[in-house]
Amino acid sequence: MFNLIVLPYAQESLEPVISANTISFHHGKHLQGYVDNLNKLIQGTEFENKSMEEIVLSAPNPGPIFNNAGQILNHNLYFEQFQAPSTQTYEQIKAAAPTLAKHIETQWGSIEAFKKEFETKGATLFGSGWVWLSAKEDGTLIIIQEPGANNPLRTGKDQFNATLKPVLTFDVWEHAYYLDYQNRRPAHLSALWNILNWKVLESRLNN
Ligand code: MN
Repeated sequence: MFNLIVLPYAQESLEPVISANTISFHHGKHLQGYVDNLNKLIQGTEFENKSMEEIVLSAPNPGPIFNNAGQILNHNLYFEQFQAPSTQTYEQIKAAAPTLAKHIETQWGSIEAFKKEFETKGATLFGSGWVWLSAKEDGTLIIIQEPGANNPLRTGKDQFNATLKPVLTFDVWEHAYYLDYQNRRPAHLSALWNILNWKVLESRLNN
């Protein structure tokens, strides 16, 4: 039996980047719906007592159990990485996420170049899905577009024969931004950097 996560901030605290209205539907309706669906689907199955990660790694993909578990895992990582908006200088980002910032600088040359690739991969993902920053076992970072409910945990196992550690994700399903930005997905994605909690990303990388 899984429960809806409690947000680490008030619904209105991400405004104006994400409105309280969007959070109320996205967290309170969409994510709640995935939790309710999964709890019904796993009843009496081999997945009933597994962790979310175990279900994501082992359920038939595509399939309803994978789809709902994937969406729950993805949304939990998504919602837990945000904080109230602020202008963060590169010095502040480096202080909050020293290891991550160093890897980004080594691989992309600058945080701006990294953000540009991440946003472009989010903006150009066709239809619904997620853009992810993940770490390989050797610490190198990779940006991946995932359709639907897919995520790097499962993709690492199925396609890379490796463990990919999810560090950062932007949700590009229309329900994530349509109330606030309508069709302007790129504008929504570029605003998300202002609410990113780099300390959370650093702890995912080092965990
Ligand atoms: Mn979503």
